[in-house]
Amino acid sequence: MPLRETEAIVLRTYRLAEADKIASLFTRQMGRLRAVAAGARRTKSRYGAALEPLSHVRAFIFEREHRDLLRMNSAELIESFFDMQKDYRIQLAAQFIAEVAERMIPEREVNERLFRLFLAVLRSLKHSGEVTRPLVYFDYWLLRLAGFLPDLERCQSCARALGEQGGYYVPGSEGLLCDSCRAGATGQRISSQVIATVRAGCQRPLERWISEEKSPLGCREARRFLEDLIELHAERKLVTRAMMEEAV
Ligand SMILES: [Zn+2]
Repeated sequence: MPLRETEAIVLRTYRLAEADKIASLFTRQMGRLRAVAAGARRTKSRYGAALEPLSHVRAFIFEREHRDLLRMNSAELIESFFDMQKDYRIQLAAQFIAEVAERMIPEREVNERLFRLFLAVLRSLKHSGEVTRPLVYFDYWLLRLAGFLPDLERCQSCARALGEQGGYYVPGSEGLLCDSCRAGATGQRISSQVIATVRAGCQRPLERWISEEKSPLGCREARRFLEDLIELHAERKLVTRAMMEEAV
């Protein structure tokens, strides 16, 4: 039974028995997995404190042959994202990220870029206090790394360049549509300016996008569109997304 050391982000934990928890983790070296955290519910255990939601930890995991559930022997806190969650908006944004991870990231697939995306977005939520751009950035890159990001400059249906007109997002569509392809269907218009802003912003490190300019107009519309796409590909409604919309 090899013991492996890996960095991990705690997506959530749930009670298992008197003293144990199950931890759902997105790890850097082993991908997304669930592990039994034996003894983590004992009061005042530092191990238990390291397993607060969204903590960035160093985890020590036993791989067991022929068993789905792994066993985590200990975890050390590297960086906490717990205090920032006193702000309800940020708490919901962080829970949204965790929910999307559980729905969209395949189990046991290592993805270094996605792991770095998670850390960058959590740090940005923690230090900027802003929610919209960190989530636009998260949504854009999550879709892109999963291969679901459509060409934002062309109509999804006829492939014509959207140009100055921008495009329309009609619920259920996997991308933006031009005015004639939407054929009168009600949709959210996404202007060419918003498309350009999001593309340019997401090409930079998130920290720089946020520190170098004020929140540009239209990011909320872009976020709604990108999150609709995430729900479409997750093939279910996301609980935290509905909560975020209520809280705005
Ligand atoms: Zn078209």
